[in-house]
Amino acid sequence: MINLILFGPPGSGKGTQAANLVQHYNLYHISTGDMFRSEIGNKTELGLLAKSYMDKGELVPDEVTVNMLRKRVEDNPQVKGFIFDGFPRTVAQAQALDAMLEDMGQPITALLELKVPAEELIVRLMNRAKTSGRADDADANVIKNRIQVYRENTAPVAEYYDQKDKTKAVHGVGEVAQITQNLIDALDAAIAESNAA
Ligand code: AMP
Repeated sequence: MINLILFGPPGSGKGTQAANLVQHYNLYHISTGDMFRSEIGNKTELGLLAKSYMDKGELVPDEVTVNMLRKRVEDNPQVKGFIFDGFPRTVAQAQALDAMLEDMGQPITALLELKVPAEELIVRLMNRAKTSGRADDADANVIKNRIQVYRENTAPVAEYYDQKDKTKAVHGVGEVAQITQNLIDALDAAIAESNAA
């Protein structure tokens, strides 16, 4: 089983790249952001709650997010592995994920961190706003807040997995196909390392 965390700031290309990696490795893609947007679309109680945080660029509380994620993992026992996209976003979420995967005997294989400069992120998100229909892409202050929250709460997750020798940085600027290849090279190396261990 391969369990990949696709990591990086808002606008770093996680969603696009997750779609490419899913095809290459035949994994199951879980995006907590997509799950929350689907709940919002269905006007559920969870959606209403999530929206109140997402519209401001804040994180949805850990407990709510972890419970939703846990259910999605448990509902898919037959898959070859997961790509976690946009999760974990706090060290507490990472600890909860590790405990969950440990129970299944299937630890995280690697965290691949897409490296993209901050100026480029803002340009990409403002462009994405033209087609994504996402309220949180359309407002420059909300974008700034999301990047700030990433720095303060989410970046420590890469350090957390680095202490377990699982974090690999990947160059995230340039052609989409080249970035996919960079990710495949990094993940293949991590798989080889975990098989050798
Ligand atoms: P994303 O689609 O990954 O950019 O997520 C959009 C928004 O959904 C974020 O700005 C958060 O408000 C919320 N969200 C998504 N994933 C998480 C998570 N793992 N923890 C907390 N909030 C999240």
